[in-house]
Amino acid sequence: RFAYVNGRFVRYGSATVHIEDRGYQFADGVYEVIALAGGKFVDLDLHLQRLDRSLSELRIERPMSDRALTFVLDNLAKRNGIRNGSVYLQITRGVAPRDFVFPRDAVPQVVAVARRAKPIAQTAIEDGVKAITIPDIRWARCDIKSVALLPAALGKQAAREAGAYEAWQYDRDGFITEGTSSNAWIVTPDGDLVTRPATNAILNGITRLVVIELAKAAGLRFVERPFSIKEAHAAREAFVTSTTSFVMPITQIDETPIGNGKPGSFTRELREKYMAHMAEIAGA
Ligand code: PMP
Repeated sequence: RFAYVNGRFVRYGSATVHIEDRGYQFADGVYEVIALAGGKFVDLDLHLQRLDRSLSELRIERPMSDRALTFVLDNLAKRNGIRNGSVYLQITRGVAPRDFVFPRDAVPQVVAVARRAKPIAQTAIEDGVKAITIPDIRWARCDIKSVALLPAALGKQAAREAGAYEAWQYDRDGFITEGTSSNAWIVTPDGDLVTRPATNAILNGITRLVVIELAKAAGLRFVERPFSIKEAHAAREAFVTSTTSFVMPITQIDETPIGNGKPGSFTRELREKYMAHMAEIAGA
């Protein structure tokens, strides 16, 4: 198994970065996770655009061109024999003696690993999964895909300990922002498909963007607005979207079953459409 580290493919077991990497000390870096379907990257352009945005918001210089990055990621997947799975790409500001101020002449550090897709349990898709709600304790720039993921780790751990798949975070006003590693969606009793607008309060998921387009094309009534914990509990349907779980039905939030406790029609339709979107990329 191979990893990519600053211009080289190295054995996974001996892939290392310097102890004074600012990613390690300050979480001063960004990342992307891009799905592979049938050996093809899923919506790579959108991921590269978001990567560019994350880097420029943190004023980290872009270390290589889209073409070079694509070449590296593709090579990494091929060397590891991975056709269905994902690649993780991380770029940090660089290595320098520990000091909060940006180092002069920092050289961004680029690492990437590929991994095979973890099969999603058929029961999760058919029956849906549980989410809990937790306070959103993250910073005010959740739109940047930074490697500062401690709140996400704490939230996901809390979910697991509660027997749940995901934790939906809520802001000070009691409105859901998003999952720890996914965007949150509901269908209201009136049949509106709702997700929170892409402000600084959430990461604008690539899956989210694609599902919005699929929903519009399918003629579903789509509304971008914040929704409360109370509305989530009273929703007819709920689901999450992300690069690794695609469209995942949520059939219980905290102790409340959602709708009739089974994945609803909007959720099933959007999941099927998203899977078709991936299949089309895989077959192209
Ligand atoms: N929100 C957060 C906080 C995330 O970490 C992720 C996945 N990294 C998402 C949403 C989903 O984004 P995407 O669809 O691009 O995977």
